[in-house]
Amino acid sequence: MTDCLFCKIAAKEISSSVVYEDDLILAFKDINSVSPFHILIITKEHYRNILDVPDEKLINIMKAIKKIAKEYNLDESGFRIVNNCGNDGGQEVDHIHFHMLAKRSHSWPPG
Ligand code: 5GP
Ligand code: ZN
Repeated sequence: MTDCLFCKIAAKEISSSVVYEDDLILAFKDINSVSPFHILIITKEHYRNILDVPDEKLINIMKAIKKIAKEYNLDESGFRIVNNCGNDGGQEVDHIHFHMLAKRSHSWPPG
């Protein structure tokens, strides 16, 4: 999608600090981190939100999360995955993304 921030990041038209990449997925540091480890995991292909991602492609995001958790030694300490979907979910960028937060403890419930 031409006018999408995360499509531009996926296409490397806008630079980001990449922590993981494969054919379908890109993970990069959030520009406004709220945790010592705060990355965004996106599909390279544009989908507006989780409801638009074909079921068979959702697993690629989950596989990337598992690989990143192992690569960054988060399997013992743990982490939080957040997907903000739509207005009530607080989604600001309309390109599917999961936040992965770690390296501190995270309270519940969120605001
Ligand atoms: P949302 O509220 O849509 O779930 O989260 C969007 C996230 O994208 C925010 O945490 C915000 O800091 C991050 N973000 C917005 N613009 C940029 C950018 O240009 N580069 C990076 N790396 N992150 C961004
Ligand atoms: Zn997009």
